[in-house]
Amino acid sequence: MPAKIYLVVPCYNEEEVLPETTRRLTEKLEEMIASGRASADSRILYVDDGSADRTWEIISRQHEENPMVLGLKLAHNRGHQNALLAGLMAAKDEADCAVSMDADLQDDVDALDEFADKFAQGCDIVYGVRNKRDTDTFFKRASALAFYRLMQILGVDMVYNHADYRLMSRRALDALSEYREVNLFLRGLVPLIGYRCDYVYYDRHERFAGESKYPLKKMISFAIDGITSFSVKPLKIISNLGLIVSALSVLGLLYALISWATGNVVAGWTATVSSIWLLGGLQMLCLGVVGGYIGKIYSEVKARPRFRIEEYLRPEDEDEEKKRKK
Ligand code: UDP
Ligand code: MG
Repeated sequence: MPAKIYLVVPCYNEEEVLPETTRRLTEKLEEMIASGRASADSRILYVDDGSADRTWEIISRQHEENPMVLGLKLAHNRGHQNALLAGLMAAKDEADCAVSMDADLQDDVDALDEFADKFAQGCDIVYGVRNKRDTDTFFKRASALAFYRLMQILGVDMVYNHADYRLMSRRALDALSEYREVNLFLRGLVPLIGYRCDYVYYDRHERFAGESKYPLKKMISFAIDGITSFSVKPLKIISNLGLIVSALSVLGLLYALISWATGNVVAGWTATVSSIWLLGGLQMLCLGVVGGYIGKIYSEVKARPRFRIEEYLRPEDEDEEKKRKK
């Protein structure tokens, strides 16, 4: 029997792209239904991440006109990862598997066939991996590469060049729901689930309308989140750095004592001042790293809800079923 697939698409101020995205995704789903890859009750589930523009209005209208479109509205902007999780958790209770993708169709829609085939072959998680990054700016390419390398050094298991284009079975989604962390970094989390997985390779296009919702500031904080959520190595590096600096300062002290004993006490102003700055800087950096982890503990301990659902435009047949039951 073909699988019931939900395409989970987080949207933040995406009014420009939604009409085209729905058209393309509906077309693709219909094609997949026709080829026996998806069941007829497969759906597109948009998650409105507290958009300030007409995104929700468009989703609601599309839901009325197009039986394939479902909508989940979050009460406020919680960021891409939380919005995605909200959608996946809704899909978990209804679909056999869910594929997460961006609203801007940068991820190749035609790769969905292969995702469904791998799922049918028994994979619980299928990662979409980008072939090359030639549609990215040089800066984005270089920073992404540096980030993956860094994560590797820090011992975090991540799929290279995989963003959040990914299929997860209901079983994998159930497992994901057991990870309760507030600082979400799904790319690091999903490989921890450990069920059978496979990869689908695709070319990533350019965003066809609208602007990226990931400016540099968000990208950096996302990367830092990824590191501090999955690795305590920075804390170890700090301790080692502290040891090295302490050893060096003993040498410095010896040198100062010898200079003093030989009567060679010229006021080394430059050296003094520069070492104060260097050590002060290092200390502040180290405190900052420690502070970053403490901040995380603080937000995890509070365990506040990761998202709040304001409205859910469900599949129509379910609505009717509920009404009948009443
Ligand atoms: N997004 C979101 N909440 C946010 C920021 C982004 O739901 O706070 C969504 C956005 O609508 C898009 C996806 O996350 O569907 C990826 O964002 P974008 O395409 O802007 O990122 P980029 O591809 O430039 O990294
Ligand atoms: Mg994008």
